[in-house]
Amino acid sequence: MKEVLEQLPKRAMEKHSENKKFFVKLKKKAPKNLDYLMQELHDKEFTQTDCLTCANCCKTTGPLFTNTDIERIAKFFRMKAVDFIDRYLRLDEENDYVLQRVPCTFLGEDNYCAIYDVRPKACREFPHTDRKKFQQISNLTLKNVAICPAAFNIVEKMKERIKI
Ligand code: SF4
Ligand code: SF4
Repeated sequence: MKEVLEQLPKRAMEKHSENKKFFVKLKKKAPKNLDYLMQELHDKEFTQTDCLTCANCCKTTGPLFTNTDIERIAKFFRMKAVDFIDRYLRLDEENDYVLQRVPCTFLGEDNYCAIYDVRPKACREFPHTDRKKFQQISNLTLKNVAICPAAFNIVEKMKERIKI
């Protein structure tokens, strides 16, 4: 996995223009079965890619924390939300709460998440490749393929399966 992650930004850059063109066409003419196809590609990819050998999302980006996330995680630590924010979060340029630093504070040496059961919604959903109307998050996906090897593979499979 180490080598895969080292190569990923370069491979994503090489595919960027092709991917961008593909997503422009996909937005205009998404196949009717896109939701089903994405679920299939996502499920298949994650039988082959083990997040515990990777954790690149937790190491390099980190999620947004919604107010609901903050309340839930603070409760888990038996902290007040305001103290949790002070200790772990900051506001970014778009006024969203994000981690003060990456790799994520809650990521263990073994790549396990210390708050897995109560982790932010954004962590649960990353890399969003099984979400409905996938064509609507093409800009985000163009970035995610440089971070997430599973998302990279899923987009490559999409291009093979969807001829537009
Ligand atoms: S979601 Fe993607 S980047 Fe995150 S750990 Fe899994 S394979 Fe790696
Ligand atoms: S909260 Fe957990 S899943 Fe989310 S970035 Fe941190 S370690 Fe990863």
